[in-house]
Amino acid sequence: MKPNHKITFPTMVVMLLLCFCFSSHGQQKVADTDKKVDELLSKMSIEEKVGQMTQVTIDLILKNNSTTEIDSDKLNQALLEKHVGSILNVKGHAYTMETWHKIQKGIQDVATKKTEHKIPVLYGIDAIHGANYIEGAVLYPHNIGMAATRNPELVKESARLTAIETRASGIRWNFDPVLGLGRQPLWSRFEETFGEDVYLVSEMGSAAIKAYQGDDLSAYSSVAACLKHFLGYSLPASGKDRTPAYITDYTINEYLLPPFQAAVDAKAATAMINSAEINGVPVHGSKYYLTEVLRNQLGFKGVAVSDWEDVIRLHTRHHIASTPKEAVRIAVEAGLDMSMVPMDYSFYDLLVELVKEGTIKESRLDLSVRRILKLKYELGLFDNAYPEKEAMKLVDRKKEEEVAKTAALESMTLLKNENSVLPLPKNAKVLLAGPAANDVTSLHSSWSYVWQGSDVSQYPKSTKTIKAALEEKLGAANVTCQSTADYAAKANYDVNQFKNKAAGYDYIVLCLGEKAYAESPGSINDLTLPEEQIELAQAAIASGKKVILVLVEGRPRIVSSFVDDILAVLMAYRPSTKGAEAIADVLVGDYNPNGILPYSYPRYTGDLIKYDFKYSEAIKEDVPNEYTLGEFSGQWPFGHGLSYTTFEVSDLKSDKTTFTQSDVLNITAKVKNTGKREGKVAIELYSSDLYASITPNNKRLKGFEKISLKPGEEKTVSFKIDPKDLAFVNAEGKKVTEPGEFVFTVKDKKVKVTYK
Ligand code: BGC
Repeated sequence: MKPNHKITFPTMVVMLLLCFCFSSHGQQKVADTDKKVDELLSKMSIEEKVGQMTQVTIDLILKNNSTTEIDSDKLNQALLEKHVGSILNVKGHAYTMETWHKIQKGIQDVATKKTEHKIPVLYGIDAIHGANYIEGAVLYPHNIGMAATRNPELVKESARLTAIETRASGIRWNFDPVLGLGRQPLWSRFEETFGEDVYLVSEMGSAAIKAYQGDDLSAYSSVAACLKHFLGYSLPASGKDRTPAYITDYTINEYLLPPFQAAVDAKAATAMINSAEINGVPVHGSKYYLTEVLRNQLGFKGVAVSDWEDVIRLHTRHHIASTPKEAVRIAVEAGLDMSMVPMDYSFYDLLVELVKEGTIKESRLDLSVRRILKLKYELGLFDNAYPEKEAMKLVDRKKEEEVAKTAALESMTLLKNENSVLPLPKNAKVLLAGPAANDVTSLHSSWSYVWQGSDVSQYPKSTKTIKAALEEKLGAANVTCQSTADYAAKANYDVNQFKNKAAGYDYIVLCLGEKAYAESPGSINDLTLPEEQIELAQAAIASGKKVILVLVEGRPRIVSSFVDDILAVLMAYRPSTKGAEAIADVLVGDYNPNGILPYSYPRYTGDLIKYDFKYSEAIKEDVPNEYTLGEFSGQWPFGHGLSYTTFEVSDLKSDKTTFTQSDVLNITAKVKNTGKREGKVAIELYSSDLYASITPNNKRLKGFEKISLKPGEEKTVSFKIDPKDLAFVNAEGKKVTEPGEFVFTVKDKKVKVTYK
């Protein structure tokens, strides 16, 4: 509402009445659902309750050797004999909408017509960066690129469109978003994170949840979101997926919990539990994490599902349960609502036994089943469990492409541009090389049509490679490229191509990085870019041509051995469907880049400092006892990203020089485009607590806003800061804002404020 709008007294009365009606209507709806759930629960047997807590994979109900045909005996076994309440996605195939509808109908026909209480099945899927597993779906940049956009509107739009298409396929549960912090660059799921910063992950994660779920889970455009993976999954000490983390309480409270708290506050309907362990405690077997922290401390009220096969792994992998049955007991007593078993019925059989012999009380099952049934009611599954025609009508692939293109463009992060070598002139002659130059899969990576994203046959034929997109811009005759789609192909690393052909070209565009992977197949032992890629880069540099590097990678791979001799570096992350076009647009200057890094890019493998380091962490090790304050030693800092224009910040001000608990600070700054091109810029506000009872971070991100400016144009950005925003976890584990001086920074400008 604009500030000059006056609200008259009668208007206010009507507004209050409307609020009252809506909220009492909402309360009535909740009470009705609770009543229905209780009635249903009272009629259910132990077996039926345990079935609701059991999730199996679709592979368990498909005909042998078929990827699409349901085996009715297997389906009957799952739904009628084992009373299974939830099924999850395929691993190796993308289906057409029609196939999805056929499968969903087949499942719900049995669930809602043949089971005793006609309880629909809740189907879950990993639509991680777009409506995955659907043939022809549009995929958006992975979260790491979305974080680089610093534009939560794009996160919302892409999540909203993903929800629509997923729901239209007949599926109402999306296992997304990932809320772990990207602070362990070796980890193979780094690309699924929103980067290293607590505030950034919290903002982007909660934006996604709100967009997936909308205001009403039963709407044709909504799916249940899933905060994951609770807790500590993203920080494996070894860097390998699903391996143990050793995390202090301070780190948990100060860094890891806030994004999950934001997700709970955003009303995430479900949570998926970390497969791994924290300080020797497997999270899916921990009453402390599942009940004490997730439910009692954060206030989570939804359904907590395990990750893939994790319950049995308490026995087989973690060795805290001496038998599979003991594993089930531990997980259920810890507070798990649903087990993603998913390849057999062991969880079902063992839990039935445990309840029948009296080890686990039936009332414990009721707690979980109540949550699951409630979610099914809220999603409208009891009214209509089938794929909805109305949802199909909302699918808008054109809009999806538009959003995917904007998101890919806004994620592009120009890390280096010496002598303004970019943008390329429109008549540039380019030698395009490297394993990512002619490959669509590395532009997408994990959860792209299939789990690993590496099967090119599952991609829409219209998806462009960088080669195709650049040829469109410069003309096929001006682009020479011998790269092929296979990352292992020798042709992609042929150093002779520069000797033989470079003479006729002014530029070499080198597309390096990582092939597609998901989870443990993406494990690496070395953060450095593979040797063959480094040799290729060195040969390109040795040719004496102007070399431009495009990085297509899910995590920061070390490039320091050669990058100083490269003129320009463009980070593309995993930009997906419209990625190649976005890269080409930036290279030729049809788009002015504005992405900024969501993580600190290391210069060396041992250089793992984060942007929010403690003052005492910035030590110059070569000089004994000497250290410099606030020095970042990495390759490129968090928040770094260049533009084809220039921006200047001035007049950074706080509306108060001192403030107290009841105040809100209004911090403003003017931003001017001082260059010759129109451009967008992400303005970030950082705070520095100068002295505190425990060592403060040198700075912390407190706000960001992206604005667009024409040449010469100036705008004012403003940030509201509540004293609570400046709180940290003290030595007693309490969140406090301590009196003292705070410095706020926007780009190179600073303003000091005192908190009393
Ligand atoms: C992943 C989860 C995913 C699940 C279901 C697991 O391997 O860790 O993130 O949701 O599979 O596909």
